[in-house]
This record gives sequence, structure tokens and C-alpha cells, in this order.
Amino acid sequence: MTLTDGEKVGYNIGMKNFDLVILGAGPAGLTAGIYAARGGLKCAVIEQNTVGGQASAAAAIENFPGVDVTDGFALCYNMQQQCKALGVEFIFDSVSSLDISSPQKTFVLGDGGEATSRAVIIATGAAHRKLGLEDEDRLCGRGVSYCATCDGALYRGKTVAVVGGGNTAAEEALYLSNLAAKTYLIHRRDALRADDILARRVLSSNVEVVWDSVVAELHGQQNLTQITLKNVKTDVLTSVLVDCVFVAIGQVPNSQLFDVAKDEAGYILTDEQMQTSIDGVYAAGDVRKKSLRQVVTACADGAIAADSAIKALMTKA
Ligand SMILES: Cc1cc2nc3c(=O)[nH]c(=O)nc-3n(C[C@H](O)[C@H](O)[C@H](O)COP(=O)(O)OP(=O)(O)OC[C@H]3O[C@@H](n4cnc5c(N)ncnc54)[C@H](O)[C@@H]3O)c2cc1C
Repeated sequence: MTLTDGEKVGYNIGMKNFDLVILGAGPAGLTAGIYAARGGLKCAVIEQNTVGGQASAAAAIENFPGVDVTDGFALCYNMQQQCKALGVEFIFDSVSSLDISSPQKTFVLGDGGEATSRAVIIATGAAHRKLGLEDEDRLCGRGVSYCATCDGALYRGKTVAVVGGGNTAAEEALYLSNLAAKTYLIHRRDALRADDILARRVLSSNVEVVWDSVVAELHGQQNLTQITLKNVKTDVLTSVLVDCVFVAIGQVPNSQLFDVAKDEAGYILTDEQMQTSIDGVYAAGDVRKKSLRQVVTACADGAIAADSAIKALMTKA
């Protein structure tokens, strides 16, 4: 089963008008759909891939309040069912062009269909930069992670390595050093790029920094067991036994399509109501500038964005 099962994937919608179009069917977009439909809006979710976004890659979600350990796929499947029961329409297609600056928002789809709406929620998420190693995808969720907040607790008392040298890598290494028996920080340069205060905290902690090194290979059948490090100055290879590698070399927001105010990294700027710099355009979830990118915060953003859209459209009706 996939999360597009039972959907009319690839059919041309022709020309359809909605109150609200939500771009992206990750946790933020799906929650926005639930709230918007319950608020009486005629609403469509446009998803270029399958439902679930990054969350569907999470083998075990342990930190969604009130839900025992679940996988991201199951959690998002349930969210999609809630949306469908409320009448939210799902359109599985890419957006080839759009105009979101006018009061009537227009979305031209890959197959030539067209959707219009009075408001839009951008919930297109973000993608973690990968190491680009052969076994990385196979071992994702089995000892390769992109999020210490998500998976750190699974490695309590174990040996972990964080890859990177910026603020995120430093924060993740410090976070993990409170849980793991041993934490390495692998950095390809001879000084951390993290802010001075964070860098000093790392250097005075029990984190062992491995300088001038990159991860050259990942090893393990079922789960990651070992990594090979390469010193970029000497080319010397070293094997290290680890239970998990946390990759913290950056994230790219999926915001390129949208001509709204963003920060220097491309994250969309919003106020507390999820309003962007353009009237009737809201952003929710990992695509926006925020301090914690998690399923629960994506859902919260989606709920707030939908509530803002409902209130704005009510005053304009
Ligand atoms: C491996 C992994 C494990 C994780 N584990 C946890 C965990 O245990 N707990 C936790 O809380 N968080 C976890 N996270 C983080 C969590 O998954 C994200 O914070 C959350 O999914 C963000 O939700 P979102 O809806 O904002 O974006 P996303 O989940 O990124 O969804 C965005 C959606 O938008 C779609 N999209 C992108 N561009 C377009 C476009 N132009 N048109 C239409 N659709 C588009 C994408 O295909 C995607 O489906 C994990 C992340 C990863 C990668």
C-alpha cells in the first residue's frame, strides 16, 4: 500500500476553484487540511510525491504526544484519512507555475490542470542534506539519522557520531552527549563553524571531536555497526564502531517556488499567525523559519495557518 492508494493519481482536474489550496501533504499540510475543512473551507491539498513527507521516512516516532511508538507512515495515513472524511480533495501532481501575489491564487499543474483559491498554505517542508554514501538510504532509520531530537533516545548508553561543524551539529552533539555513552563529532575542518559559545561548550564537554575527517563508508547488514573515517589531510582511513551516525550538515527548505520574504537560508518568514509577506499566503512546518522542526510543531503550525486562513476569508466574504 502507498499513501496515494485509492486516489485518482494523474487525472486532470481541469479547472477547479477552492477557498484554500495547501501545498504539501506532510504533517503540516495534512493538519491544515483537517482544520480548514472543519472550519468550512473548500480545500485541496496538492502533493507532488506521496502523502507523509519526511515523516513517512521515520521508522519510529516516539515523541508525538499521546501516541505510543508509531511509524511516520501510519501517523500520516491516519491524518490523510481524517482529511478525506472531512472532504479535503487530494491532487497528486507537481505545480509547474503559480501566481500567489494576486487576491486570486492560481496553480498550474504538471498535467495542465489548474486550481485557483482565495488563500494558500505553503507546507512544502525541507530536505536534509545527505552524506551521499552508498549505504546511506538503506541504513536510514537503522543507524543513520538526520535528527537527534527524534532518534537520540534510541541510543541511550550507546556510541554515536555526529557529522558536521555548524550550530546544528554542535547542538546535536551536546544533546547526545547527555544520552550516549560515547559521542564523536566528525568535522572535515580543523575548527568548528558553530557560534563561539557553542563551540566552546563542545570542546569542554565529553564529546570527542575528530578533526579534518569525513565519513567515507558506512558498514552494517541490518543496522549500522561501523564507519570508516578518512582524514582529508593525510588520506588515512580509520574504522570506528558506532551504533548511529547523526548527519547534521544542513537542511534545504523547499521554498524556491515562492516569491515571499525568506531568511538567508531560504526559510519562509512568518508571524505568529503563519502569515507570510503576501496577503492570503501562509506558511507552516519545516519550510518556515522556526527553532524546532518536528512533527508536533509542523502540526501546530498547520492548525494555526488554517485558523488564520479561515478568519481572513470570513472577513472578506
Ligand atoms: C528520517 C526522519 C526521521 C524523523 N523522525 C522524527 C521523529 O521521530 N519525530 C518528529 O517529531 N519528527 C521527526 N522528523 C522530522 C519530521 O518528519 C518533520 O519535522 C516533519 O515531517 C515536517 O513536516 P512538514 O509537513 O512541515 O514537511 P514535510 O514532512 O517535509 O512534508 C512536505 C511535503 O511537501 C511536499 N512538497 C514539496 N514541494 C512541493 C511542491 N512544490 N508542490 C507540492 N508538494 C510539495 C513534499 O513531497 C512533502 O510530502 C524526522 C525526519 C526525518 C527525515
